[in-house]
Amino acid sequence: MRELPKAYNPQGAEENLYKLWEESGFFAPEAHPPWAGSPETNPNYGKTFTIIMPPTNANGDLHAGHGLVMTLEDIMIRFNRMRGKKTLWLPGNDHAGFETQVVYEKVLEKQGRSRFDIAPEDLYKEIWGFTQNNRSNINSQVKKIGASCDWSREKFTLDRDIVKTVYSTFEKLFHEGLIYRGKKIVSWCPKHQTSFSDLEIVDEERTDKFYYVKYGPFTIGTARPETKFGDKYVVMHPADKRYQQYKDGQKIELEWINGPITATVVKDEAVDMEFGTGAMTITPWHDAADFDIAERHHLDREQIIDEQGRLLPIAGGFAGMKITEARPKIVEKLASKGLVEKIDDNYKHAVKLCYKCNSLIEPQVKSQWFIKMRPLAEPIIKAIEKKEITYVPDHYEKITLHWLNNIIDWNISRQIIWGIPIPAKICDTCEGGLPDLENKVSTCPKCKEELREETDTFDTWFSSGQWPFAALGYPDSKDFKEFYPTQVMETAGEIIFFWVSRMLMLGKYVTGKLPFNTVYLHGLVLDAKGKKMSKSKGNVINPLDLTAKYGTDAFRMGLIVGNTPGTSLALSEDKIKAHKHFANKLWNIARFVLSHVDEAALRQKPELLPKHKKILEEFAEIARNVTADIEEFRFYLAAEKLYHYAWHTFADKVIEESKEQFRGGNGQAQCSAQWTLFVILRDLLKLLHPFTPFVTEAIYQNLPDETADWAKQQTLMIEQWPA
Ligand SMILES: [Zn+2]
Ligand SMILES: [Zn+2]
Repeated sequence: MRELPKAYNPQGAEENLYKLWEESGFFAPEAHPPWAGSPETNPNYGKTFTIIMPPTNANGDLHAGHGLVMTLEDIMIRFNRMRGKKTLWLPGNDHAGFETQVVYEKVLEKQGRSRFDIAPEDLYKEIWGFTQNNRSNINSQVKKIGASCDWSREKFTLDRDIVKTVYSTFEKLFHEGLIYRGKKIVSWCPKHQTSFSDLEIVDEERTDKFYYVKYGPFTIGTARPETKFGDKYVVMHPADKRYQQYKDGQKIELEWINGPITATVVKDEAVDMEFGTGAMTITPWHDAADFDIAERHHLDREQIIDEQGRLLPIAGGFAGMKITEARPKIVEKLASKGLVEKIDDNYKHAVKLCYKCNSLIEPQVKSQWFIKMRPLAEPIIKAIEKKEITYVPDHYEKITLHWLNNIIDWNISRQIIWGIPIPAKICDTCEGGLPDLENKVSTCPKCKEELREETDTFDTWFSSGQWPFAALGYPDSKDFKEFYPTQVMETAGEIIFFWVSRMLMLGKYVTGKLPFNTVYLHGLVLDAKGKKMSKSKGNVINPLDLTAKYGTDAFRMGLIVGNTPGTSLALSEDKIKAHKHFANKLWNIARFVLSHVDEAALRQKPELLPKHKKILEEFAEIARNVTADIEEFRFYLAAEKLYHYAWHTFADKVIEESKEQFRGGNGQAQCSAQWTLFVILRDLLKLLHPFTPFVTEAIYQNLPDETADWAKQQTLMIEQWPA
């Protein structure tokens, strides 16, 4: 008989329990408990199970979403470890290029400084220090959530070996013709002073004015008169009968914003005859569709707006003005010249915004590095169609296929200092470039002009897209050979394109193998009212406040119960509080059982009463269901089933009814009851351990050392999962 303390105190226990696990050495896949070391006792002997943790951005604290990542992945890891697989969970942090730079800019702003006033090398050093502080903070917070990852293998996306891998992928892509430097129209944020890929841009529906303006004999429609200064081409569909008398290439003299100009007629099938008047002028430098038309017809393109979003000298008297200031003035001038035909006040259209600062994106023509994505996407489309990748939930499969089938070249150049420098030389004459890791090339192979060093950095997703194989030490390490491909990638549904799809493409391209075969995507963690958490709204829930208040197990259960994959979860404090009661309930169950069990009696298996046999069979059924649920990624169901079994069956019925045998039963009945209660308690602890690791371990440490058919392990973490 053992007497547990009256109450479980997570605040006092958790740190020591984590230390027990970490010091046991069993976070590393090499360590295995005695039962796992042979195929006779371990049906999963020789199998590996690997999750590469999504590298946390080293620019702030852990938020509730991270809490969910750590909990879901820890459930899978602990489950597979207890199933006898060689289990690796590799933790890491991401330098998170642009994201971190934005966070750090806010730090600078508070100090009254700006990144544009700091020498690039100094800024890099400052941000390096900032991320290193955050890294150690984040890692200690990850430990608080109970993550049983292998800290000896922790990686950072700027580690030398990771950068080396990223560079060799860059070279491979270049030499195989899949990467090029080209002058193309790109999305540019005037506030952040960098270009983006198509994914950093968000569309917003807006109602603006639409202007019909006379352009010689034509009327053209535009929402952006401020871009029209350089327009000298008027484009119409070749089949448009209204403009039959105008021939492609025909010159027309006309009066324009700043005086007379010569315009040229261009016929192109891209023009929508139904839109506006069917005639339009083009601004190739600042509009992607116009850029394409200009490319097809080899037309001049001229920059009208500079990178700060101000009009250039081509705008005459408007030069130097910001767009918002210039637009009404330009319309006024056009009107004074009698060129405005009408204004539609109710023009609904989508505008493109920077995903970070909501600034209007100003497309610009720039020379950047692009990856040809089509050849990388094709093998992944095939793999998905052949069901080599499983998406949980499965609707992500369709979303991914749609994106991959419409993929465009990826601009990986960023004009920021915080990131992995692009190891290349570039040519200002032909706008080309080539990788130059060893600083050996000085003249352009095409035009023989002198080259200069590239100053841009890689899009951070270019490095994190290589994370699974880079973090495992591709190509030569033992880890890469043993643990790649990994089994599950668990991450936020929001980054299905940004990250998951790019990992699939780059992983397959570089290693020849898909980096993982199951993708589990979780939804957002929202506040109790179902609102997105944000610092400005002041509704951010700090996971560590909750774990400190209610215990980590309660926090983990609060995140898992009722949380189906892919859907958002409203996280309320009440829910977490309810699970604190559950941890207490488990403790009380254990207190009762252990105080009624005679350790010596357990060393011999008694003849069981028929009612106890039945109870054990019912429990085995629960264990089977829970196992299937976890294997099928229904963690929410597994957690709920265990919660209800522990509370409403085991405590309310089995234990209540056993009191009868303990009060008046004969020796056999008492032994049968003791055995039954103990086995259920022990195996319930095992089943619950992935969900509530701390309280289950705290109880486990108080179990007797052995029974007739079982010997206690060093920690519950390495117990064998109930068969
Ligand atoms: Zn921006
Ligand atoms: Zn050149």
